[in-house]
Amino acid sequence: MSRLLGHVILLGAPGVGKGTQAKLLAEDTGLPHLSTGDMLRASVSSGTEMGRLAKAVMESGALVSDEVILGIVAERLRAEDAQNGVIFDGFPRTVKQAEGLDSLLRDLHGVGIAKVIRISLDADEIVRRLSGRRVCRACGAIYHVLYHPPRQEGICDLCGGQLEQRPDDQPSVIRHRLAVYEAETSPLVDYYRHLPGYAEVDGQGETEQVRERIRLTLGLKE
Ligand code: AMP
Repeated sequence: MSRLLGHVILLGAPGVGKGTQAKLLAEDTGLPHLSTGDMLRASVSSGTEMGRLAKAVMESGALVSDEVILGIVAERLRAEDAQNGVIFDGFPRTVKQAEGLDSLLRDLHGVGIAKVIRISLDADEIVRRLSGRRVCRACGAIYHVLYHPPRQEGICDLCGGQLEQRPDDQPSVIRHRLAVYEAETSPLVDYYRHLPGYAEVDGQGETEQVRERIRLTLGLKE
């Protein structure tokens, strides 16, 4: 495992592979994977008040409020295992959240942002990836009906759990999520571009090829 100190932010539209790459990067670095989408989905499944409120927003493809998101991130960053940094996936998603993160990190007096990696992919490929995506209900492993099918249809290779299509991966919702990304999240590229740790990685190709590009960018190659 390679050493990396500080937070890593994965930027990019829904479907570029942030979740898949964040899981691999967590394995490669030992830093925990922090996906605000996964945290919200866990709240929806366990039926908490926050989950109840977030469910409809998520299914419509809109964004959950910055206050709620910053609240759950602040709590997670205080945990013991987050002190050397985390791999952020799907956060920040608005300039407000990026500013909130900066002020949170100042207050915590811990590690800062080590790297911001923007994964890029053309729009047609994004739609192909999202519409074929299947996710394990039990462990969250990510598959694709054509690009990365499970050995047995509908069943997770890793844990035997049921695979399902996320409600927000329906074509009409995908279009809305991409519009929300353009309006709310793409301005973050300008927010982070000036940082010395900012880098762009091509998201085209096989999972392992993109993983190698990210490893190279982070200097994780031995
Ligand atoms: P994801 O799994 O990252 O694609 O997120 C799924 C959905 O959860 C999004 O479409 C939003 O509704 C919500 N969500 C996840 N992360 C955030 C965030 N940082 N800010 C606002 N909403 C979020």
